[in-house]
Order: sequence, then C-alpha cells, then structure tokens
Amino acid sequence: MSGIVRYEGAPFVARFGWYAGELMEKFVKSLAEKKLLATRCPKCGYTIVPPRIRCVKCYTKLGEENLVELSGKGKLLSYTVVHTIPDGKGGFTDLDKPVLLGAIKLDEADSTIFAVLGEVEPEKLVEGLEVQVVWREETKGELADIAYFKPVG
Ligand SMILES: [Zn+2]
Repeated sequence: MSGIVRYEGAPFVARFGWYAGELMEKFVKSLAEKKLLATRCPKCGYTIVPPRIRCVKCYTKLGEENLVELSGKGKLLSYTVVHTIPDGKGGFTDLDKPVLLGAIKLDEADSTIFAVLGEVEPEKLVEGLEVQVVWREETKGELADIAYFKPVG
C-alpha cells in the first residue's frame, strides 16, 4: 500500500487520472447530484467504478445503457497512512496532518477505489469496516465532490 502516495486533492484522481470519454464525463457530472455511477457488463456482470468503455474482464463494449447507480456504501479492504506528497520536483513534502487512505470495495461494484477516510481514528480501522461516502457541502460535478468516506453509523 505504500506505493499509493500521489495526493492531488483526492487520491481518486491519482488512481483514475485517465480519460475514458463520455462515460467518465457522465460519472463526474453525476457527482453534482451525489450519485456514484458504475458500468455493469451485460455479458459477465462485472461492475466497475468509475465507468469504463470496455469490460476489463471480457472486453465487451459498454455504453450509457450499462450505467448503474451505486449506494455509496462499501467495505474497507485495507488502508494506509500518508504522511507526504510529491513536491513535483522528485522529492516529497510533509503533510501538516497525515491522511488516511483506504482501499474500498463499493457494495454493488467488483472493483476497488482509493479514497480518503474521515471521521475515524486509525486505531478504529479494520478490514471489512463498513464505510459510506461523504459528499462535500456544495457539489459541483468534480471528482473533489467526494469529500471522503466515513464508517457507517
Ligand atoms: Zn464483461
């Protein structure tokens, strides 16, 4: 997990920095309505977030008709504490406050996302912990609309 140290506002961005065309655009725009979209393959059922234009398992072409809305709940698979961010010059800068970064399997999806964890102490983090998305106050249709994930309840 120590390999995930790129931090650009949301690690989500670092992990999914590629452009996947219309579906990715739709995914990002839907964040303004506090919706998390995924694509579900009609052939094998593999569900991936953010949406992709081809199934990663069976390469079936996917389109808007294959978009499904997720609940925003998931389970923590693992986490890491991030203390530094790249300074853009090949080195690292210390963060004022360490950031908890979780690998989360969203309930209705098969893929894993990486997101900041909030409202939780590192000691409370265990594998399988149920978490849910927390949206920033004013959503704008940007990846940063996903503020962080927090434990359910
Ligand atoms: Zn498939």
